[in-house]
Amino acid sequence: MKIFAIGRNYAEHIAELQNERPDAPVVFMKPDTALLKNNAPFYYPDFSKDIHHEAELVLKVCKEGKNIQEKFAYKYFDEIGLGIDFTARDLQSKQKEKGLPWEIAKAFNGSAPVGEFLPVSHFTDLNDIDFSLKINGELRQQGNTKMMLYNFSVIIAYVSQFFTLKKGDLIFTGTPKGVGPVKIGDRLEGFIQDKKMIDFEVK
Ligand code: MG
Repeated sequence: MKIFAIGRNYAEHIAELQNERPDAPVVFMKPDTALLKNNAPFYYPDFSKDIHHEAELVLKVCKEGKNIQEKFAYKYFDEIGLGIDFTARDLQSKQKEKGLPWEIAKAFNGSAPVGEFLPVSHFTDLNDIDFSLKINGELRQQGNTKMMLYNFSVIIAYVSQFFTLKKGDLIFTGTPKGVGPVKIGDRLEGFIQDKKMIDFEVK
């Protein structure tokens, strides 16, 4: 399976990192070794001193497809979950300065914790889904899909031009404002609306 992630998809997050607003979705990938499931702990890696949390809604692809039209995109994902796009911000800043790829900062082992998923039928409006992240019980990130620059359909259409989507692939859809560092001992709890979707510790 493949993991796709969309960067810079929430305006206020673009502003907090002083990034440019993109004119197309920013797409990157993580390997399957980035996946962390079943609320397994995240082990803080030695190569970074500034790992940031990015809480994101995650689409689960249910059917193979490429060159998918926006109007048919809804047929290609059937579940939505919550994940963390862990980012070694110190390494990413260096890579960005040099114009180099982000993989070492974004795609490392355990950089994609993913929690439970809800069926798409659970939601009345995909363009109005609240989600949030608490750290040690304190609210740190709060977003709603209506604030996305590129919605789920646009993302599916865009990504599938370049990469064939396959059943089981995951797509992280971008983080709202409020990203920040985690430290050893932190407990991360992610929610979609009022439902807790993920709950794990940094070790
Ligand atoms: Mg992200």
